[in-house]
Amino acid sequence: SAKAHGSQKVVRYDSHMKAADLDYKRIEVELRRALVDGTGFEMYYQPIVSTREPSQASRYEALARWSCPTLGQVDPERFINVAETSGLILQLGWLLLDLVCQDIKNVDNTVINLNISPAQLMTPGFAEEFSNRISGYGIRPCRIEVEVTEQIVLRDDITIAKELSVLRACGFSLALDDFGTGYSSIGYLKRVKFDVLKIDRSFVRSSYNSNKDAQMVASMVGLARSLDLEIIAEGIETVQDADCLRGIGVDYLQGYYFGRPVPFKVVEANRRFYQIHDLEAGGVAVLSR
Ligand code: C2E
Ligand code: MG
Ligand code: MG
Ligand code: MG
Repeated sequence: SAKAHGSQKVVRYDSHMKAADLDYKRIEVELRRALVDGTGFEMYYQPIVSTREPSQASRYEALARWSCPTLGQVDPERFINVAETSGLILQLGWLLLDLVCQDIKNVDNTVINLNISPAQLMTPGFAEEFSNRISGYGIRPCRIEVEVTEQIVLRDDITIAKELSVLRACGFSLALDDFGTGYSSIGYLKRVKFDVLKIDRSFVRSSYNSNKDAQMVASMVGLARSLDLEIIAEGIETVQDADCLRGIGVDYLQGYYFGRPVPFKVVEANRRFYQIHDLEAGGVAVLSR
């Protein structure tokens, strides 16, 4: 009967939710344990390539990896989400920042894009501490670009806006990540000054096939231009994607086509590191080996 069918559905839904809760709880417990001694975490780096100097990797996005002794390699999306919900992201965030600083402190002039969660920016004084830690390593702020997702627009929190503007005043540049995935952020972009828009890969994926999506990306580029922002397109997987997005006029490309995220020592071994001069002067990166 319809009723039996209905209740069966409810049961299935319930057990599914319990499994997800259990999973969440296990990740939280293991994450908490891992943070006691900080082992098992590593930062990987993915090249971000300028469309004007396509042969040169001008910067890298740092992406967290966690290998748990009992759960194995945990999907970043998953453990970052658990860390955010449980509040562990504050402690984890400082640990990941230390890993990045240790990786790059002895390499000159490399620009790193670093993801920061809304929960971190909700902490009053976050920007100052962030800045102090980085300068403690002797790393200049112009080498770090902070990425925040469009989620912050939805929260529209006064502390977040304040911390973002302090970060920018300290000399860090700001990128709005996953742009176009949900919330209308145009008003927010007028209120909080960003430097870069990162177009989400869901638009990139379809631009090559769909004229409509290509036009949407083109209008995002137009918006970026009028707000004096640069554009990075994420999720470039094929030469067709690269050609299409370059044709539309984005400034930087990122994706598996140019390179998957790899440990820092692999980046160095690949000799993909380039010196970036004149970053402060003129604002245009002049690249050379
Ligand atoms: P995100 O910041 O948007 O990072 C881009 C994601 O797309 C990365 O996933 C990257 O590996 C993946 N990606 C890059 N190129 C391609 C491509 O060509 N095709 C496809 N299909 N995917 C590509 P990842 O490393 O799994 O990270 C997922 C998300 O987890 C990140 O999305 C970011 O929101 C979050 N995350 C990662 N590391 C950190 C971190 O250190 N701190 C914080 N707060 N969040 C982080
Ligand atoms: Mg990102
Ligand atoms: Mg993104
Ligand atoms: Mg994302």
